[in-house]
Amino acid sequence: MNNIERIKTKLKLQKFLFNTEGLYLGTRLNGNKMNKTKKELLEELKKEVERCQRCDLCKTRIKTVFGEGDPDAKLMFVGEGPGYEEDKQGRPFVGAAGELLTKIILAMGLTREKVYIANIVKCHPLKIPDPYLRNNDRPPNKQEIENCLPFLKKQIMIIRPRIICCLGSTATSVLTKREEPISELRGKIFKYEENNGIEIIPTYHPAALLRNPSLKPLVWKDMKVIMKIFGLK
Ligand code: URA
Repeated sequence: MNNIERIKTKLKLQKFLFNTEGLYLGTRLNGNKMNKTKKELLEELKKEVERCQRCDLCKTRIKTVFGEGDPDAKLMFVGEGPGYEEDKQGRPFVGAAGELLTKIILAMGLTREKVYIANIVKCHPLKIPDPYLRNNDRPPNKQEIENCLPFLKKQIMIIRPRIICCLGSTATSVLTKREEPISELRGKIFKYEENNGIEIIPTYHPAALLRNPSLKPLVWKDMKVIMKIFGLK
């Protein structure tokens, strides 16, 4: 990115996050939002998510699942949406698939605390409207994704990771805007929107690995692509 592109990106980011026009010159804007840390901005956004009633998922959720990790993370994992355990704990990837994701992160030489983990939707999509029923998960529908996506987009622009690893086909198709199957997109590098330097590397969802362990070497191959970018061995 050259300097002009960098300024353009900064202006776009300011407009997106703070609804400001023009260049920020250090004076107080929007109740001093510009001086807030990433942690504070994420806390504010988290509170907004907790109040959200944009779709019916708010009626059956026990907890919203905003996401967690290092606000300065260079690597962000994005899954589909909370499942049973995540809905109860209000944390992403804490069920069986989450255990496997945690192992993958550790095998990469990282920890959950050093990366950031989030989802496309922040509430648990249910087949039957009973949050205490097990094996009752479904993928989020188009409308739920559309309603919830602005939260993730803001989260991404606050954190500004270098790489987003999309876990599974929902996160991959939503963030890359590609329609090919995950088997074709995995391990490849895509741009996240325009001119922000953020790239996407999709891989299979850890839940898919639990169902089909023969996919594990492919996921490891994809993680190696990410590790190479970060100089991890
Ligand atoms: N699956 C997801 O996609 N996200 C979670 O947080 C948990 C399981």
